[in-house]
Amino acid sequence: MGLLSQGSPLSWEETKRHADHVRRHGILQFLHIYHAVKDRHKDVLKWGDEVEYMLVSFDHENKKVQLVLSGEEVLETLQEKGERTNPNHPTLWRPEYGSYMIEGTPGQPYGGTMSEFNTVEDNMRKRREEATSVLKKNQALCTITSFPRLGCPGFTLPEFKPNPVEGGASKSLFFPDEAINKHPRFSTLTRNIRHRRGEKVVINVPIFKDKNTPSPFIETFPGDDEAAKASKPDHIYMDAMGFGMGNCCLQVTFQACSIAEARYLYDQLATICPIVMALSAASPFYRGYVSDIDCRWGVISASVDDRTREERGLEPLKNNNYRISKSRYDSIDSYLSECGEKYNDIDLTIDKEIYKQLLQEGIDHLLAQHVAHLFIRDPLTLFAEKIHLDDANESDHFENIQSTNWQTMRFKPPPPNSDIGWRVEFRPMEVQLTDFENSAYVVFVVLLTRVILSYKLDFLIPLSKVDENMKVAQKRDAVLQGMFYFRKDICKGGNAMVDGRGKAQPSTEPAAEEYALMSIDTIINGKEGVFPGLIPILNSYLENMEVDVDTRCSILNYLKLIKKRASGELMTVARWMREFIANHPDYKHDSVITDQMNYSLISKCNQIANELCECPELLGPAFRKVKYSGSKTGSSN
Ligand code: GLU
Ligand code: MG
Repeated sequence: MGLLSQGSPLSWEETKRHADHVRRHGILQFLHIYHAVKDRHKDVLKWGDEVEYMLVSFDHENKKVQLVLSGEEVLETLQEKGERTNPNHPTLWRPEYGSYMIEGTPGQPYGGTMSEFNTVEDNMRKRREEATSVLKKNQALCTITSFPRLGCPGFTLPEFKPNPVEGGASKSLFFPDEAINKHPRFSTLTRNIRHRRGEKVVINVPIFKDKNTPSPFIETFPGDDEAAKASKPDHIYMDAMGFGMGNCCLQVTFQACSIAEARYLYDQLATICPIVMALSAASPFYRGYVSDIDCRWGVISASVDDRTREERGLEPLKNNNYRISKSRYDSIDSYLSECGEKYNDIDLTIDKEIYKQLLQEGIDHLLAQHVAHLFIRDPLTLFAEKIHLDDANESDHFENIQSTNWQTMRFKPPPPNSDIGWRVEFRPMEVQLTDFENSAYVVFVVLLTRVILSYKLDFLIPLSKVDENMKVAQKRDAVLQGMFYFRKDICKGGNAMVDGRGKAQPSTEPAAEEYALMSIDTIINGKEGVFPGLIPILNSYLENMEVDVDTRCSILNYLKLIKKRASGELMTVARWMREFIANHPDYKHDSVITDQMNYSLISKCNQIANELCECPELLGPAFRKVKYSGSKTGSSN
């Protein structure tokens, strides 16, 4: 989830005192990097995926499933057996926010050849097998985006009561601090976000109104004024960072050949974020209730919203410098390539001093405003031992601000003194149940970057329209019901990258005619006379590529999954979970998910993930290369 420093974390008051210092040196660190590597242009395509996992434990007797708070030990064992024993180990493991979470990536990045697409799924299987092998009896590794009963009484193993008093990190009525990863970064982030904001975070997710759901749906929180004020009728109320950052996702990072290519990809992929998010929708349930949304995005956004009342526009500015329109976890606010400039129609709050300094240092307007926008934020964690750094050779202060701007896309400068190039990270996707699906989404996105670069495609539309798409994308069944702004003519061929900064030819076309509202089916599969469709474009690209038979077969299967999810022939994970609960014999059509229902659902997910049962409505007649048998939970669940 970002930079992990070791040491003694400072309180919010202390961190705040150093905020200007961190920003000042963060910018100097960025400048050192920029000047050293701005002209690099021979880096090759490399890419990698990140999968976040939850550890669960099944109590078959009582039909209950809990999140196991053993992420730290499991991680230690995996690293000891893996990367610390063998530097070429095929997997890497990292901590994540929840003490019940871990994150896995391939040991080495993938390269640019087509055959690499055929190794992604094997590597994901290896990760699942490896981590499963160190779990205890009745435990399993799950790739679910949000745990349906997160924050319900007794949702962790061991069980802990939440502790909503001063002194705790979350002060949550529902989410115990013991469920937060023990690395001090995570609880410090939690506490400092709350302190900076001046109150607990507030998350209200609309409830799904089933036929027996009380209307209005109102929960009471006796004796808790803050909750009474913050919770909204007809919404599921949550009050802790863990409800958001305790969710799992699937991310892909690309190394571009140059800074210009990275900026171009950053912009192009930003328009794709809401589309792929809706296609990957996998999180319909929160705090034991059926919600009316399918994606986690807004929940995480609210869960780390550290803006004060002044910054949110609720009070006149007095102690703060700016009104800020979005949370730190949100969609991007400006395009970075020059062809994106005319589509930058969102008001951008920037640190003017930093912007000026960057211009003076020879950085162009678009990159300068991007960095000056990221740097309106305060650092949220700081370690006493890490205040004074060598700006020419370290980048912790830059990374401190950068890595707590959790946006749909991330533009990543190379680390100092490394042979890593300029990278971009694609962050909106929800994690899927199986390695097959996760590979399909990853391969789809990576192939799309190949096609964008080879055919010089142009997906840009005004950024405010991308934001509107983000809102639509999270709604229930957006994949089939939602209409999204999308560019009609994407084959401008060469419009996008003519100089080092991605300078565009001036276009005379009025912007409003460049895009139209389309369904995901139209965007992905195409529609005669309206839009060619991304999958048909990928298919024609593939036809012109030399690819071995086996790899081609895998890729075509991945694309088929995406195609069918877009057309509705297959369900998204969110839709499938909704149907599973709706058809559960215990379900009373009152939007409540009981422990037993949760147990049935997660058991089924685990069976599907470990290929112990088929799930044609989700996966189709999926093609599988290797039979996997590494489940620890036996066949009874
Ligand atoms: N778990 C977060 C999500 O679902 C992402 C955390 C990270 O940046 O690694 O988006
Ligand atoms: Mg992560």
